[in-house]
Amino acid sequence: MVKIGIIGGSGMYSLLENADEVQKETEYGAPSDNISVGSIEGVDVAFIPRHGKNHTIPPHKVPYKANIEALNGMGVERIIATNAVGSLNPSYKPGDFALFDQFINFTGGRDDTFFHGPDVVHISTAEPFCPELRGIASKKAAESGLGMHSSGSVAVINGPRFSSKAESRYFRAAGADMINMTLYPEIALAREKAMCYLGIGLVTDYDSGLEGDPNIKPVDYNEVGRMFAANVPKLKTLIAAIVKDIPEKRGACSCSKSLEGAQVKA
Ligand SMILES: [Zn+2]
Repeated sequence: MVKIGIIGGSGMYSLLENADEVQKETEYGAPSDNISVGSIEGVDVAFIPRHGKNHTIPPHKVPYKANIEALNGMGVERIIATNAVGSLNPSYKPGDFALFDQFINFTGGRDDTFFHGPDVVHISTAEPFCPELRGIASKKAAESGLGMHSSGSVAVINGPRFSSKAESRYFRAAGADMINMTLYPEIALAREKAMCYLGIGLVTDYDSGLEGDPNIKPVDYNEVGRMFAANVPKLKTLIAAIVKDIPEKRGACSCSKSLEGAQVKA
């Protein structure tokens, strides 16, 4: 049984050994692409390239529900997700890694729940990211000398365009350290399935520039792609170390209980 799922860029394909591709269909449609099932350091994992194998799915079209449903249906209990993020906080520098601990949702029009009635569910997202996985990731990053922020709030926007300067200022004032287009609703949907979710961000740019520093230009996508690709090897090493260290059974976190007390009784 595959208990660990990875959602991220197609650069992660080569992380898996002996991978087989599995075609899945869910009641919410097909996932972003075939799911690769293989192993990392002897541990079974399933991988979904969030934007499709050839990066053909924009952030607002990612089949978030199908991806989570498909992984959940395979028995996955824990998700390790990777995201490129823009920095809104000068201490989060391009090339840095960050473990998200909070999100602020600024997306709209995305289907962000499995419960449209008659079952009514209100899950808590007070602490949306798995504390056990964050602890393991933090330790592994420290051991490998990786520049890692152990926490950070992420604003999530629809995209696909990048922010205006005024929007960046607004998101910063709202308390966000980073900005991204795909973390939400993935995180909320995983929580509705009582899965553990670890969000690892790689800072690729300074969003719409750095206030007061005219030398820092607003982000362009080529820079995001270049910065991400340059850091994929580090990310892969980190994920392999994390996967190896994840205990077989859950219990040190309460993610599996996220539906307890959340359901409205008829
Ligand atoms: Zn957990």
